[in-house]
Amino acid sequence: MKDGIQNHPIELWCGDKFYSKTFPPGTEFPDNTTPEERAKCYWDTRPKERGGQRIIENTHGCKGNTIAMVEGINLGTEMFDLLIICPKWFDTYWFEQPSMTALRGQQFEVKKKHISEIGRQLATTLIHELSHSRVLLDKRRTYDIIGEKSAYGFKEVYFHAKNNPNNALRNAADSPVQAMYLEGYNWSTGFNEAMFEEAPLKNTLRG
Ligand SMILES: [Zn+2]
Repeated sequence: MKDGIQNHPIELWCGDKFYSKTFPPGTEFPDNTTPEERAKCYWDTRPKERGGQRIIENTHGCKGNTIAMVEGINLGTEMFDLLIICPKWFDTYWFEQPSMTALRGQQFEVKKKHISEIGRQLATTLIHELSHSRVLLDKRRTYDIIGEKSAYGFKEVYFHAKNNPNNALRNAADSPVQAMYLEGYNWSTGFNEAMFEEAPLKNTLRG
């Protein structure tokens, strides 16, 4: 991490309306681009000096189940992260979940709370996205590595840990971040087990 996260340059968007289906007249697509591929492209309408005014392939954008994404933009002299939180995130999760800070101060009946019930918070979504950042973490950045069905959620985290711990380390799922932050419990089974006796933070107050 070069200068630490507090100095990390980010351009943050709530939505991806700057991706347009209208291309400026005379836009040249790379050779061999098929009409099907062309139909999946967007035009980045952001200013050229911010890395915009370019063709974007269809992997970008708030479509399908995508709730957030990050892309490193290299301007040659400087790099920054283009971070998009999709409207879907705000529609689906914004009002539903207590904040991580609120959860940290809460006591749950032991073994009754599953980490997958914690759901998505803005904090962990931002950590998730920034953990993908090439600008911030370079070779130590994370990926969304498909386990059984997807790359997300405790079940998939568990699957990776059992089958290929290397994948578990490189995967960006939110559950481990949540488990680390809600440190008053031992979440290794998925449920909030009592913290083991020798844990250094056992007797520190959550809050
Ligand atoms: Zn991801």
